[in-house]
Amino acid sequence: MRQFEDTYRHKGLRKKLINTIKEKGISDEMVLESMMNIPRHYFLDTALEHIAYQDRAFPIGEGQTISQPYTVAYQTQLMNVHPFDRILEIGTGSAYQATVLAEMRANVFTIERQKKLFELNKNFIFKSKYPNIKFFYGDGFEGLPTYAPFDKIIITAAAPFIPPKLIEQLKPGGKMIIPLDEEGIQKMMRITKNEDGSLDEETFSNFSFVPMLKGRN
Ligand code: SAH
Repeated sequence: MRQFEDTYRHKGLRKKLINTIKEKGISDEMVLESMMNIPRHYFLDTALEHIAYQDRAFPIGEGQTISQPYTVAYQTQLMNVHPFDRILEIGTGSAYQATVLAEMRANVFTIERQKKLFELNKNFIFKSKYPNIKFFYGDGFEGLPTYAPFDKIIITAAAPFIPPKLIEQLKPGGKMIIPLDEEGIQKMMRITKNEDGSLDEETFSNFSFVPMLKGRN
């Protein structure tokens, strides 16, 4: 059994990481506090523990990655999370992003298409601490019609287009944060669904994500 320990050394490294993210422009105190409270090294293989607090993406198996902390902070800040928001996440991966949202007291519904990664989260270390995360195995392009509508939707893989079913599952006034792929580069976009159903689009910086793929695996 793996022993999880969050030592003073880990906390110190985490503080440094949060300062780096702040210097890069993240100002939402709730986001910074949430990330300060979550031991990122628990979400990585023990072999990567010593570098877990570098501002980098890391492999988590099945050719997938845990997003770079700055990217997690950036997407979360764009979402403007409020306690009790219903949030749909596409791409559970390591469940780090989902945990950041849960720590901010959102109700998180997260979908993963890779069976192995989904299964790994059956032993999610914070299961009892965050009953506000619900894990699903499925195709994110389909969303979760049974649990819709959502206040916010976050896609953590490079989307080839704006998935129409996800727009349907957004509340009027709701927001989707989506890295939209354009020839290998992803533009971070925030889509707001207006009360009349029309969409507003805002474009932010470029990022790099693993692809959002159709179907389950
Ligand atoms: N949010 C994750 C980032 C994981 S990387 C974290 O914090 O660790 C993106 C993840 O999206 C991968 O695990 C990949 O398998 C998953 N993914 C890609 N396409 C998907 C789809 N259509 N539906 C659900 N998950 C998908």
